[in-house]
Amino acid sequence: MKIICIGRNYAKHIKELANEKPKEPVIFLKADSSILPKRNPFVIPPFSDDVHYEVEILVKINRVGKYIDQKFANKYYDEIGLGIDFTARDLQSKLKEKGLPWEKSKAFDGSAVIGDFKPKQDYNLESIKFQLLKNNELVQNGNSIDMLWKIDEIISYVSQFFTLKKGDIIFTGTPEGVGKVNIGDVLVGKIEDKEIFKVNIK
Ligand code: ZN
Repeated sequence: MKIICIGRNYAKHIKELANEKPKEPVIFLKADSSILPKRNPFVIPPFSDDVHYEVEILVKINRVGKYIDQKFANKYYDEIGLGIDFTARDLQSKLKEKGLPWEKSKAFDGSAVIGDFKPKQDYNLESIKFQLLKNNELVQNGNSIDMLWKIDEIISYVSQFFTLKKGDIIFTGTPEGVGKVNIGDVLVGKIEDKEIFKVNIK
């Protein structure tokens, strides 16, 4: 399986990182080895002093597809989840400056938290409310209504480049409020006030 991530999909997050608003979605990949095994803590890697959480809505692909038309994109997923795209921001900034690929800062071991998936019928896809709490304090408060590229547009766009396969997961981008994690932090992700994942930082 592969993990496809969308960058810069929320206007206010683009501002907070002083990035430019892209004309097309920014795409990068994580590896299957990036997945943090369920119930494992996230261990801050030795190569970074500034690992950030980014809470994101996840979409699980349910069948093979390429060149998917936007109007049929909804047939390619049944389940919605929530996760974290952990990012070694210090390393990413250096790579960005040099125009180098981001993988070392985005696809390292444990960098993909994948919470539980629920049937998409459980949600109003146009307006999914999701939150990240750090040590019980609300740090990110998002709504899919603010996505620059909606789920169906993302699936159509991504499938022009990569064949989507059953089990692939799309990280749809993070809203504003990203920040650093420290040893001892506890991160809880919620959709519509229901807990979807909990991660201890070590
Ligand atoms: Zn992200």
